[in-house]
Amino acid sequence: MVRSDKLDDLYQELILDHYKNPRNRHYIEEADIKAEADNPFCGDEIALQLKLANSHVGEVGYQGKGCSICRASGSMLSEAVVGRTLEEIEELAATFKGMMRGRELSKIDTETLGELKVFLDILKYPIRIKCALLAWVALEEGIQKFRSRA
Ligand code: ZN
Repeated sequence: MVRSDKLDDLYQELILDHYKNPRNRHYIEEADIKAEADNPFCGDEIALQLKLANSHVGEVGYQGKGCSICRASGSMLSEAVVGRTLEEIEELAATFKGMMRGRELSKIDTETLGELKVFLDILKYPIRIKCALLAWVALEEGIQKFRSRA
């Protein structure tokens, strides 16, 4: 067997599924919030568009290139933010970032994160942490820009 157990461990089923079948891939031209970011280290490039409806996120567009962790993280983000307010998204982003920086999770954190907890595994591969964070950091910047325009 040439297949590596380590890789099986890293690319958990959920991450693999989002990598292979990214959600919300369409580009939203008339989005309220647009964000882009790259991580030249492994060629990651992501773009996000959020369209608001009654101060909640109604629709998300997400396009990603690069490594599987980055692409899966953006796809899972795009599912996680639908229906939330910008304040809730910022809270979620802060919790996710905390997790990726090794902070201990409270019970509430764990509930807030839901499926996003699969990225805890990535802490074993420090070189990939930036990949997992890329879309979240970009989204936070996009929200800040949107607020400064409003
Ligand atoms: Zn990457």
